[in-house]
Amino acid sequence: MGSSAPLRAITSLDDERIYVTQPHLPPLAEFMPYLEKIWNSKTLTNGGPFHQQLEKALCEYLGVEHLALFANGTLALVTALQALRVNGECITTPYSFAATAHSLLWNGIKPVFVDVDPDTLNLDPEKIEAAITPQTTAIMPVHCYGHPCDVKAIQKIADNYNLKVIYDAAHAFGVQTEDGSVLKHGDLSIVSFHATKVFNTFEGGAIVCPDAKTKQRIDHLKNFGFVDEVTVVAAGINGKMSEINAAFGLLQLQHVDNALAKRKAIDAQYRELLADVPGIRCMSDAGEKVANYAYFPVQVEDNFPISRDALYERLKEHGIFARRYFYPLISEFPMYRGLPSSDQNNLSTAAAASKRILCLPIYPGLNPVQVERIVSIVAGIQ
Ligand SMILES: *Cc1c(COP(=O)(O)O)cnc(C)c1O
Repeated sequence: MGSSAPLRAITSLDDERIYVTQPHLPPLAEFMPYLEKIWNSKTLTNGGPFHQQLEKALCEYLGVEHLALFANGTLALVTALQALRVNGECITTPYSFAATAHSLLWNGIKPVFVDVDPDTLNLDPEKIEAAITPQTTAIMPVHCYGHPCDVKAIQKIADNYNLKVIYDAAHAFGVQTEDGSVLKHGDLSIVSFHATKVFNTFEGGAIVCPDAKTKQRIDHLKNFGFVDEVTVVAAGINGKMSEINAAFGLLQLQHVDNALAKRKAIDAQYRELLADVPGIRCMSDAGEKVANYAYFPVQVEDNFPISRDALYERLKEHGIFARRYFYPLISEFPMYRGLPSSDQNNLSTAAAASKRILCLPIYPGLNPVQVERIVSIVAGIQ
């Protein structure tokens, strides 16, 4: 008996833990008929019926022409660079998840980091030109937090210098600008369907491409380079999405609009409640017509009583696990530190954001009372 009180205290804290995200899952019973089909057909992978159906369904949902599914977003990034035969140097952002630049190293391409725009935290087009050398063959921008890059300015530079553009659109599922899907820009765009993303297939990803010929090359590259039983045309990888993941994606797609609507409501509630909290500035969108509310980044400013890191720790003490996306910068990881660009290019805007931004929890299952609790902790800090 004597030990039950502290035990209960721990349990109740556990119950109230709130993480930055929680994967959206449909009712389990709805998935059973899909599993039965897979068990009956014994087709587990290699572009089976669910794989084909999900590619078609996603093209329709997202409003894009062609799409190739992958086992995850990172393999999609690695393969996209191979499909376009990118080599030499590639200009990219240091303010992203490790996979963006890692995909370059996996292909023996040198990342050249360029600073971000202070408002969008996306690659700053005005800084790209100065980083172009005779070795530059591509630009890999990120639609950070699902906020669209300045796609027109980036394309103009790419056209002038004959560079490929590969968008890491891992955060940008469902995002639309005035021109329709944000995934239609550049040569290729990559999305991630990881458990932590807006639309998940447990693990998964895709390359969005403009034409059938490119899709065919990508489909070969994600299957070891096989064209038919006896013909191998490239040192491709195994990047295929399995039938289980594809079937799950089809089910998730039925629920995704509902999930996005819930995110939108949470975003609105945060903005309203945080409007009166001095020193906390909610990041605005980048003018997208349809946003996906993938993240809720706030900037902890000088007039907030404590630092971003102290706020992060304080929230943790209350069982709230906000995340410092993106700290540290990719250019600060040991395997990138030695690159000339990491030292020479001025990355001060990215560095400043990396020290000030905190992503607050946002996911469809987060309820209004929990949002109030999070904001009251932030607002109560002296
Ligand atoms: C999640 C993410 C990836 C990697 O996607 P996976 O599906 O986890 O491999 C790549 N880039 C960015 C910016 C991401 O957030």
